[in-house]
Amino acid sequence: MKKIQNYINGELVAPQSGQYIDNFNPAEGKVYSLTPDSGSQDIQRAVNAAKTAFPSWSSTPVEMRSNLLLRIAVLIDKNLNQLALAESIDNGKPLSLASSVDIPRASSNIRFFATAILHFNTDAHKMDNVAINYTTREPIGIAGCISPWNLPLYLFTWKIAPALAAGNCVIAKPSEITPMTAYLFSELCIEAGLPKGVLNIVHGLGTKAGQAIIEHQDIPIISFTGGTATGKHIAATAAPMFKKLSLELGGKNPNLIFADCDFDQALNTSVMSSFSNQGQICLCGSRILVERSIYDKFVTAFVDKVNKMTIGDPLEDTTKTGAVVSESHMKKVLSYIKLAKEEGGQVVAGGQQVHLKGRCENGYFIEPTVITGLGHNCRTNQEEIFGPVVTIMPFDTQEEAVKYANSTAYGLSATLWTENITRAHNIAHQLKSGIVWVNCWLVRDLRTPFGGMKQSGVGREGGNEALRFFTEAKNVCIKL
Ligand code: NAD
Repeated sequence: MKKIQNYINGELVAPQSGQYIDNFNPAEGKVYSLTPDSGSQDIQRAVNAAKTAFPSWSSTPVEMRSNLLLRIAVLIDKNLNQLALAESIDNGKPLSLASSVDIPRASSNIRFFATAILHFNTDAHKMDNVAINYTTREPIGIAGCISPWNLPLYLFTWKIAPALAAGNCVIAKPSEITPMTAYLFSELCIEAGLPKGVLNIVHGLGTKAGQAIIEHQDIPIISFTGGTATGKHIAATAAPMFKKLSLELGGKNPNLIFADCDFDQALNTSVMSSFSNQGQICLCGSRILVERSIYDKFVTAFVDKVNKMTIGDPLEDTTKTGAVVSESHMKKVLSYIKLAKEEGGQVVAGGQQVHLKGRCENGYFIEPTVITGLGHNCRTNQEEIFGPVVTIMPFDTQEEAVKYANSTAYGLSATLWTENITRAHNIAHQLKSGIVWVNCWLVRDLRTPFGGMKQSGVGREGGNEALRFFTEAKNVCIKL
């Protein structure tokens, strides 16, 4: 069986303990490879390598750093098919989605920061005739980058690219649930000639390898994407050590649909924003709020479309809905559907585990599920489910829509459907979300700051915000 290796000091190496974790193919419910069960010894080895590499990498001319990263992006493009297949097998997502979104975006992330660093500038401030101030921004040292399973290579590269471009060395830990594409990525880094120790990829459990990163005294900067509960733990561990922290956490995103919207566009995009990647995108809209005058029409049309979605083998071209990522995640999602019924909800589409035939007979599949009849305050409408489950609720006034939308502890993203531009601006400013999409969903300009409000996160990634995060400012004040 294939054994994934750590990438430390430029080499592919086994974990020091010699221990491995089972890695499942969720569409088949079968172990298909083994992931290193790394611990603090492996992290220490990676820290030693990164410390040695830092003086040279941080003083490498920006253009050379940029060229090296661009070489990696080219190799991702060249290996798109292999990477997409690996991601689909590792994660259960449709191959078509991995090929069209996840892997191309991994390459774009690297290209974006490889070129952004060439144009990254700092400020100078003149205080009349008293003094002149200028600011420099230097790489900090070793960055710890910890990423989740839902968009494995996409989110992994989103973190490491700005850190490396800015001149830091990195210790990255991908999710133990989907390690394969990060492993293949380490092979591409070797092929590209990335100097040894600049990037180290250590695989393993969050509570062991991840914990060793967040508590290591020589890793002063942590960029984390994952669940809010893990984020709280990381903040509690890292804050007393005065580490610089960026936390991209969970969401319970509202999708507001007004009667004056373009109905077909709102309907079609809402199906996508609810169920893409089996609802396992942090930006999926999981609470659809619909103005009462079009509520019945919307529910009927939405359910009709959802019932036509094909659930199937992720490797087949026609599949729009693949497997959820693991058995335990499937059980969690099904338990929320049960909870929704206990809370008085009606399941108007889906609601069941799906048993496919053939290769995928033991896979983790759930029908896209639509629930109506729940109030905005119940647990189903307050807690992140992170699966193919969406609720639909009516509202009567704009104020009520905003109140329901803002009623959770989260504030990651929101979507708004209206043809009334004044209403769009007004509501967009009232919604407590890091990003508000008006008449679209998941459109991202990588130059914009990205991140959540409230318990959806701290800090902003994307564009210059990310480069600022991974550098330390110093001001020099010269008397005139
Ligand atoms: P998770 O928090 O369980 O794990 C995320 C990563 O943290 C994994 O690599 C895991 O091994 C590691 N980890 C776990 N415990 C740790 C510890 N004690 N110390 C250090 N690292 C530790 O999240 P998940 O289940 O992998 O991902 C799903 C969650 O991620 C959802 O809540 C989703 O909303 C969120 N997410 C957020 C964004 C965003 O941009 N805001 C993007 C994608 C996913």
